[in-house]
Amino acid sequence: MKEQNNLMDKIVSLCKRRGFIFQSSEIYGGFGSCYDFGPLGVEMKNNIKKAWWEEMTRFHENIVGLDAAILMSPRVWEASGHLTAGFADELVECKKCHHRFRKDLLEKNKCPDCGSQLTEPRKFNLMMKTFVGPLEDEASVTYLRAETCQGIYVNFLNVLNSSRLKIPFGVAQIGKAFRNEITPGNFIYRTREFEQMELQWFCHPQEADKFFEYWKEARARWYLDLGIKKENLRTIEILPEKRAHYAKKQVDIEYKFPFGWQEIEGIHNRGDWDLSNHSKHSSQDLRYLSEEKKEKYFPYIIETSAGADRSFLAFLIDAYCEIKGGRTKTTKAVKEQELVLRLNKKLAPIKLAVLPLVKNKPELVKKAREVYQLLKPYFTCQYDELGSIGRRYRRQDEIGTIFALTIDFESLKQDDLTLRDRDTMAQERIKIVDLIKVIKEKLNVSKNNS
Ligand code: ATP
Repeated sequence: MKEQNNLMDKIVSLCKRRGFIFQSSEIYGGFGSCYDFGPLGVEMKNNIKKAWWEEMTRFHENIVGLDAAILMSPRVWEASGHLTAGFADELVECKKCHHRFRKDLLEKNKCPDCGSQLTEPRKFNLMMKTFVGPLEDEASVTYLRAETCQGIYVNFLNVLNSSRLKIPFGVAQIGKAFRNEITPGNFIYRTREFEQMELQWFCHPQEADKFFEYWKEARARWYLDLGIKKENLRTIEILPEKRAHYAKKQVDIEYKFPFGWQEIEGIHNRGDWDLSNHSKHSSQDLRYLSEEKKEKYFPYIIETSAGADRSFLAFLIDAYCEIKGGRTKTTKAVKEQELVLRLNKKLAPIKLAVLPLVKNKPELVKKAREVYQLLKPYFTCQYDELGSIGRRYRRQDEIGTIFALTIDFESLKQDDLTLRDRDTMAQERIKIVDLIKVIKEKLNVSKNNS
């Protein structure tokens, strides 16, 4: 347990030290459970979102995208069931220290902080209220969306009519969601503001089970393809009493975090819950008309709902690798330990580091800067000339940079450089004229950048 907490401490410290994630409003003492993604964090999070977007929209014929507003009519949330008990957690409070907890997350019926008795549970709605317009009265109350998918359901007809899609089809969306969580925590795992990557797949009710299985497999594979270790990922079926209020069937994809197995994505068969309720509340007919089958029906929805922040944390933890004594065997200097972030090529925030062998030789610096300018439009690169070359390699390993390119004295004569691989530390010489082509091949980016 101590070791696991230790690992989380190290992750949090790496995030701050190297600019992945900062506490929000830190100069004012921080703002509870809110985090800011720093220069490396934003690159990596964008890479995760891009990998998800490509997987969903590019590699499937019948999935289109959407970017709906965060603020919506409050009637949406009445129809969806989010303003009633369905979207409320049970809150208990310690009678002695007054700390509050989510009942379903407690192992025992006692305060985990001081061991005292707890109050009876009461329902606590998770919707974040806000006011639209100048008057803070009831008429202007609305909510920050608690899930991105409602924006897709209320646009069902718009998308259908404008895209001429036929069932089955999907709508993909990435965006912020907000929940007034009772007990946020575990760094960015549970926060009150977070980002979701959601697919809503509309299908015939009779095909819902088949597509549920398809998407469950496909979504688990996505994490594995991006480098998550098999032993750290599992799918588990959620029993009826624990399911979300809209779900007929639910499977969670879980990651083995240092604080235990926890959900990173939910796959839900939402049945016709959403479209039929929005039909009722809006008086619009949201049924689908099948010309071929001469049938009008509410499609069933299979939802895959992933957290961009939770998967960020999972990818980071999975890639984190400490090597006792260091990896370099060529020098006598023994290091206590080395850190390598073995992030997948698609996810690494920086792909290339351009390094002159030494900083005090103007001709090396000049050449290295030329190489940096050459590569910068194509790949995310860093130029670094500070410190010994070994130290610079380790600095780049620590943030997961895929290749380090070193310009040495030989480079001036041969017009080439050495390319060092983060994981194997193998070095090879590459001609500068071939550089872009070779790196593209190695990173396999042609598909993504086309
Ligand atoms: P939990 O049981 O952990 O509260 P949930 O079952 O309510 O999660 P869903 O409603 O299924 O979560 O949301 C889908 C995804 O959105 C989750 O798998 C997670 O990745 C992300 N998510 C939900 N709540 C949060 C949160 N408070 N902080 C960060 N990500 C979240």
